[in-house]
Amino acid sequence: MGLRHHQWIAVRTTACVTLAATIMSFMCIWVWMQIDPVMTIQRAYLAATIIPLLISPACSMVIQRAHVQVRELSDENEYLANHDELTGLSNRRAFFTRAKAMQASAEPARPVFACAIADIDDFKRINDSLGHHVGDEVLKGLSTVLSQVAPHGAIVARLGGEEFALAGRFADENVARFWFEALVREVAFRHPGGHDVTVSLGWCVGQDGETLSALLTRADRALYASKAAGKNRAEMAERDMLRVVA
Ligand code: GH3
Ligand code: MG
Ligand code: MG
Repeated sequence: MGLRHHQWIAVRTTACVTLAATIMSFMCIWVWMQIDPVMTIQRAYLAATIIPLLISPACSMVIQRAHVQVRELSDENEYLANHDELTGLSNRRAFFTRAKAMQASAEPARPVFACAIADIDDFKRINDSLGHHVGDEVLKGLSTVLSQVAPHGAIVARLGGEEFALAGRFADENVARFWFEALVREVAFRHPGGHDVTVSLGWCVGQDGETLSALLTRADRALYASKAAGKNRAEMAERDMLRVVA
């Protein structure tokens, strides 16, 4: 089995530090011998031992510090690529990655995979009447409520704007319904960001062979139905009849 990329970097770094320490040690001894005519072989041995001991930790520290900085930047990049800046929730991209993995996983105790899209009701009115910054506080408050109320292990993400997505595994369809309806009730009850806010939610249960995108499209249709039915409610999507027949 070959070495992996980061292992190669470690090997190369060690080799470079050793080589640099040896060269610098030789150079120091050579310079010393030029300026000190009574340089004895013992002193040369001493210098050849001590100088690398001083140089190697210094070189290693500089390299390690650069390595840590690169690592921190890479972690920060990864965080920014997968999280929503305002709320700190997973973003659309991370939601798709995580939800696809959850959909593909087999959990005998929780065989039903369900997805939901929640959208704040009349959010434009909050922005228009109280200001964009209040709207932002509401978005942050709502993300806290959703994260706290969502069932254990569920994925909560901000898809964009005032739209949030949830995905989770449940024992059966009724348990999923219970959770999604409870989420809508809790949002109205907890006043996210200190304001009267409600959400409408559309949800659906994954069918065999259904892609996550298809599932979300159905959840989105259910969300539309929930808005049309008066908002502040959870509606389950119709089953995809074509898929059921197929
Ligand atoms: P509905 O009940 O039908 O969903 O109505 P709505 O007003 O919530 O929906 P609409 O699509 O008309 O307005 C959404 C608003 O969300 C408009 C936009 O300014 C606001 N919005 C989107 N992203 C942000 C954000 O990051 N911060 C704030 N404060 N507002 C946002
Ligand atoms: Mg919307
Ligand atoms: Mg809205």
